[in-house]
Amino acid sequence: MIIEDNVDNRLLLQAILGDVYEVTEHPTGPEGLASLAAERPEIVLLDISLPGMDGVEVLRHIRADPEFRHLPVIAFTAHAMSSDRGKYLAHGFDDYITKPIVDETILLGSINRLLERVAA
Ligand SMILES: [Mg+2]
Repeated sequence: MIIEDNVDNRLLLQAILGDVYEVTEHPTGPEGLASLAAERPEIVLLDISLPGMDGVEVLRHIRADPEFRHLPVIAFTAHAMSSDRGKYLAHGFDDYITKPIVDETILLGSINRLLERVAA
């Protein structure tokens, strides 16, 4: 599941991931949250800068639901300051990917690692 308000970023993610994974897209946090139970994603790629409810708050809602407490969630953000990684991991994100995506193998590697961890 991709939760990202920028359509160009959604298109890019779809292009990178669409051949390998079944991808669903939601432009806002509430729309993504409302679809969790129906879609039952294996992993969520969550933009931080979203209109209305930001990604950190969306994550809080995901973690508050016992059913999705352990769902892997990757923070996807342009806030590429060196201190941010630890900050987002401390919020409870499982990983952190910066925009723009320069090297798609980093994204694919992160997704594969988290999915393997769930399977283990
Ligand atoms: Mg955004």
